Amino acid sequence: MLLDRFIRYIKIDTQSDEDSLSTPSSLKQYDLLNLLKQELGELGVKTTLDKYGRLYAKVEGNPAYSNIGLCSHVDTALECSGKDVKPQIIKNYDLSDIKLGSSGLVLSPKEFAKLNELKGKTIITTDGTTLLGGDDKAGVAIIMTILENYLKIDKTKRRGFSILFTPDEEIGRGPEHFDPKQYGCEFAYTIDGDDPKYIEIENFNAKAIEIEIKGKSIHPGSAKGVMINASLVLADFMNSLPKDMIPAKTEKREGFNHVVSIEGNVEVAKAHYILRNHDSSILDKQVNDFKNIKNELFKKYPGCEISLQITDQYKNMKEIIDKNPEVKNHIEKVYQRLGYQFEYNPIRGGTDGATFSFKGVPCPNLGTGSYNHHGRYEFAVLEEMEKMVEIGLEIFKL
Ligand SMILES: [Zn+2]
Repeated sequence: MLLDRFIRYIKIDTQSDEDSLSTPSSLKQYDLLNLLKQELGELGVKTTLDKYGRLYAKVEGNPAYSNIGLCSHVDTALECSGKDVKPQIIKNYDLSDIKLGSSGLVLSPKEFAKLNELKGKTIITTDGTTLLGGDDKAGVAIIMTILENYLKIDKTKRRGFSILFTPDEEIGRGPEHFDPKQYGCEFAYTIDGDDPKYIEIENFNAKAIEIEIKGKSIHPGSAKGVMINASLVLADFMNSLPKDMIPAKTEKREGFNHVVSIEGNVEVAKAHYILRNHDSSILDKQVNDFKNIKNELFKKYPGCEISLQITDQYKNMKEIIDKNPEVKNHIEKVYQRLGYQFEYNPIRGGTDGATFSFKGVPCPNLGTGSYNHHGRYEFAVLEEMEKMVEIGLEIFKL
């Protein structure tokens, strides 16, 4: 049963570890990977768990058609513990405030509007002490349930099914060591979003910029006309950037420059920025803003050194999806056949699917029916997870 499966998976602590250099970043992710391997084996499905903690499985369908893949990640976010998750199951939800255990936290439809849509549904919440792990164990449980149902379909009436469970998505290392040959599908979908009505084929283009300013230090008592305070030059730099292009003032397809950290003294000052935009030509303009400000400040403060280190992080998968229209057409047809509405929703972040797409497996993202990820207010909706099982199964039917 989907619910039992989900509860079984979220009770396993699989938090990834940002500070680790090993792959997977934390060994406890194997606790779930090994269980999945065993459960796949019990269903008669052969698996490959590679030395980097990527679990692949393939099931044959009608050989006249290429395989389609589904993918979820087994790790949970860093912001909140995923150890000793004690879920609360609320059946026949009546739109009232939900107390999260004895933590004093309340999950309220006044604060989280989604809850207003969920009258009569079954909601799974935390007890207010951990995250839930619906991101992305809802996806994992959905894929395993799809597979159970898929195996009952006659081979000639289904497309081949490639499964991938990855570790370390939350620390941006999910697609490391990704092997498209091992995955063996023409295209795939990650099940790692929230609302089932959203199909996500766009993510940010992402760059990082490290600003480093070297000033000239001298005793402040005799500094007139000589001192260049690197920290003040950095403040000038930051104030010269577009004021409204920041995360707190942007939404939907609006990009931003986000200062992640700064440090500085008189001699040296540094700022770490991340730049995001769905449109790569606008992202290039954002980079040019940094270069232009650098040149201006260089003239304004003769003798100071300003350097910019620009790094490419990830790219918008839409570029690849647009070249492979079948990926979009296929999922649109699935929603239409089932009579479900859908919307295209641009992801304001990255996705493992973006890297898979650029490595040869175009890979949009679909919903999980779980919400408020990465924190203690996380919850999942059983009926929406079931809907994703229905949608996922339809993907393979001929
Ligand atoms: Zn996720």
